[in-house]
Amino acid sequence: MAMNTAPENLSIVHHPAPILRKVCQPVEAVTPEIVAICKRMLELMHEAPGVGLAAPQVGLPLRLFVANASGEPEDDMVFINPEITVEGKAMEDMEEGCLSLPGINASIRRPKAVTIEATDIDGNRFRATSDDLPARIWQHENDHLDGVMIIDKMSPIDKMANRKALKEMEG
Ligand SMILES: [Zn+2]
Repeated sequence: MAMNTAPENLSIVHHPAPILRKVCQPVEAVTPEIVAICKRMLELMHEAPGVGLAAPQVGLPLRLFVANASGEPEDDMVFINPEITVEGKAMEDMEEGCLSLPGINASIRRPKAVTIEATDIDGNRFRATSDDLPARIWQHENDHLDGVMIIDKMSPIDKMANRKALKEMEG
């Protein structure tokens, strides 16, 4: 993969950067460069601070994201080429923010429980199931890999409430 930014220099990009609307490409192999990217993304996520960060949010059109629901370093997780399966029919509304949409919050309706299958930073495929905050984070971050953001899913009322912040961002 040709990159024009060294992993340590990656930074978070904000809406309306076009990269945030790209459908990302699968990661072919967990190379040292991919590992360095994941480590930098974890660092940026903690600095923000946030609970998740997807590759397009640092300008890379790759199917990978990092997440940490608790903020504790031991809970850092990397999801490369993730696939999400919805478990059951329960839906839930929950307030979400996004590191690419500073100052914007919206109540988003999503399936409550999901299973995720992904490759970890050591190149091993794994599975995890959640009906709590991790499930919410995985779905939000996975949306980024398809160019989907919470502004696409928020209610007309939330759109109105965030209109000013959005307008400022969009210039
Ligand atoms: Zn986001």
